Amino acid sequence: MGKDFDVTVVGASFAGLACARAAAERGLDVLVLESRRAPTIGLRTTGILVQEAIAHIDLPPDVLGKIEGVRLYAPSLEFVDLAAPGYAFYATDLPRVMHEQAADAVRSGVEIRWGTPFRSAIAEAERIAIPTNATTTRFLVGADGAQSRVARSFGLGTNRRFLTGLEYEFEGLEGVDAGFLHVFIDAESAPGYIGWVVPGPRVAQVGLASRHPGKVDLEGFLRRIEGLFDFSAARRIETRGGVIPVGGRVGRIVRDRVVLLGDAAGTVSPLTAGGIHRALELGPILGELIADCVALSAADFESRAERELRYPRYRAKRLLRLLADHQPSNAMVDRLFGFDLFRAFAQLVFFHQQGLFSRDAWRDLRRLFAGTPPQSNEKPSGQVSCGSKPSRSRAGAGSAR
Ligand SMILES: Cc1cc2nc3c(=O)[nH]c(=O)nc-3n(C[C@H](O)[C@H](O)[C@H](O)COP(=O)(O)OP(=O)(O)OC[C@H]3O[C@@H](n4cnc5c(N)ncnc54)[C@H](O)[C@@H]3O)c2cc1C
Repeated sequence: MGKDFDVTVVGASFAGLACARAAAERGLDVLVLESRRAPTIGLRTTGILVQEAIAHIDLPPDVLGKIEGVRLYAPSLEFVDLAAPGYAFYATDLPRVMHEQAADAVRSGVEIRWGTPFRSAIAEAERIAIPTNATTTRFLVGADGAQSRVARSFGLGTNRRFLTGLEYEFEGLEGVDAGFLHVFIDAESAPGYIGWVVPGPRVAQVGLASRHPGKVDLEGFLRRIEGLFDFSAARRIETRGGVIPVGGRVGRIVRDRVVLLGDAAGTVSPLTAGGIHRALELGPILGELIADCVALSAADFESRAERELRYPRYRAKRLLRLLADHQPSNAMVDRLFGFDLFRAFAQLVFFHQQGLFSRDAWRDLRRLFAGTPPQSNEKPSGQVSCGSKPSRSRAGAGSAR
């Protein structure tokens, strides 16, 4: 058998690279196996970072596009603008983000083998052998996404509920107000989730996700929204897509010295389907834990990891996912859209920093419903303003958009 590593991480995306880097910075010998051939290709995500994620990632400012509002469209294409002072989302130049993440990991001493899929491993007394790769490792981290092969190889928990996402990247798409994430409720094109138009720093991303299995009608969605934006000079340069686990944390996340991380562990919000923040937050925690436990027996590591890895379980958001899976018809959403309570609830979903189910969130919901602004010493809860169906001709004039 070839080289021995302390840690082998499967998957060179947000979770795997963050974990690998933290472990390498603590002096461990770390290998990352990645089936994609380079950091910038085969990407599957839109890459929007919530504000909380920014604290966990070091990026040059020009790869980020700050977006302070959400323009939420009803099926009728009426819209409401949502914002919370001091809060922002960040669109990203994703290939550059992944390039930077990989380069940072390599600078920290991580060895990354691109174009090297993990297929199987054999647990031995003290080490885990990876025959196709001719290496052995003391710890194995499965950061290999929603359909983790590491999880299946070691009988760990697997994701069972998914959305399917698909998006196109366009150069030259005009008339997209860069102050907003444009979010579309549409039970026909995107049942169970939403459609989006994201004004990114390099390209505009247009996509949707819907219940899996099911049809992802991106062409139909494009036809629905073509009157809102100027596609006349738009050139499609990339297609991205994949499944998003929305069933919450998988059952068993650790066995001996094999641990799951990121989407493989189901740490994606079942409601918003965002998983990058948790991947970036929990990756270094796992890397540090492994470094602390390098001398422990497999059984001791397993019980410590079970105790200390506090992966979110998303109990309440899983309930809301059930509601989203059975979302009302477009006609019903159009009617609900007129109600302040519906808009206030949307505001909480997108902007409540303490979490949708915190006491503060419900207090703010009551306040928004009653039309009382939040007090100045409180975290921002938000602003809601409304508009009617925007048209392309208004876009250039910068009125409603
Ligand atoms: C269309 C779409 C849009 C999304 N948009 C957002 C968004 O805007 N914001 C957000 O927060 N979240 C979003 N998500 C979810 C987000 O992408 C994930 O939660 C996040 O990427 C999780 O990171 P990860 O490192 O755990 O897994 P992944 O990013 O899935 O990375 C897994 C890595 O493992 C590699 N791999 C898989 N199998 C093997 C193997 N056998 N051997 C070697 N390597 C392997 C893969 O190639 C991949 O690089 C989106 C998801 C999709 C599908």
